[in-house]
Amino acid sequence: VWREEKSLGNSALRGERELLAQIRSRVRARAGAKADAKSGLALGIGDDCALLRLRPDEELAVTTDLSIDERHFRLAWHPPESVGHRALARGLSDLAAMGARPVAAFLSLGLPADLVPGARTGRGREAWVARFLEGLLALARAHGVPLAGGDLAESPIAVADIVLTGAVRRERALLRSGARPGDALYVTGSLGGAAAGLRLLEELAAQGSKRGRDPKTNKRPTVSMRIPAKLATALAAHLYPQPRVAQGLALVRRGLASAAIDLSDGLSTDLHHLCEESDVAAEVDADALPIADGATLEDALHGGEDYELLFAASEGTRMPRALAGVPVTRIGRVMRRRRNGPAVMLLGADGKRVLEARGWEHFS
Ligand SMILES: [Mg+2]
Repeated sequence: VWREEKSLGNSALRGERELLAQIRSRVRARAGAKADAKSGLALGIGDDCALLRLRPDEELAVTTDLSIDERHFRLAWHPPESVGHRALARGLSDLAAMGARPVAAFLSLGLPADLVPGARTGRGREAWVARFLEGLLALARAHGVPLAGGDLAESPIAVADIVLTGAVRRERALLRSGARPGDALYVTGSLGGAAAGLRLLEELAAQGSKRGRDPKTNKRPTVSMRIPAKLATALAAHLYPQPRVAQGLALVRRGLASAAIDLSDGLSTDLHHLCEESDVAAEVDADALPIADGATLEDALHGGEDYELLFAASEGTRMPRALAGVPVTRIGRVMRRRRNGPAVMLLGADGKRVLEARGWEHFS
């Protein structure tokens, strides 16, 4: 884990060594062996493998998420801290959806030569990795999950691959397949904020000059655009989404949910996934949706990357108004699936209509 890639050229290798040293020292500075042991990490960075030690009644949950420049983020748009935060948030949100406790994170980075410290860098880019790690490790610290290893290579495009491991009580994990007709549907937090934030970011990029590749040289801009401080709040849901780990754990501990999924692709798409796996249909009340400030109904229905939890609970369940400090809102119900009938309907002031899965397609 985190060993040197022998096949790379000398300058890249030097840059890589520096980067590895940087990562190790940052992780060390952060970590306490005791805290790691508590999470379930028995051995972290430094050997050929990390070692995880689960309790006897636990199962290991594993999820992997790829973040690619111009697909899931834009070097030209997103502050490096946000790229690091979002890469980890995606994995943590998947653990949250299963009700798993994070154990350890693994990070594989593919970076263009000019983003590797020590290599020939353009001015202002040297700090990119340091700032990326800052964002990633801040979120890791907040969730008590150690960075336990990974890999590093030079790559024509920037790629961050995150593997998250978690632990969940045996046979207690929240699945997509457990929803039953008659269950109520709930979401945590508010919806559409990430899509509204992305729109704002797009507007900022359009205002700024040359935020795309230079048409002559096909080179990327050398630094991500500056985010005005007054927009920080409006952009937070997009740049720094908060995975609902504590809420997923509470759902399992209190036995509240029959099924769950995290909202990564958008409510319409993720609800279809849940219905498919549970072999049920669903109705959503448009008026009940907790729409984020600055977001529209469309954002709430189809905007992706809110990383809230969508879950079902049997009708008799007494649902608290909040879980670990985050509001819970009842948004609809699970129904029997009719053959050839639509999976998801939306009930609004103008009546009932089919809700197609039109989740957000990132930057495609
Ligand atoms: Mg997911």
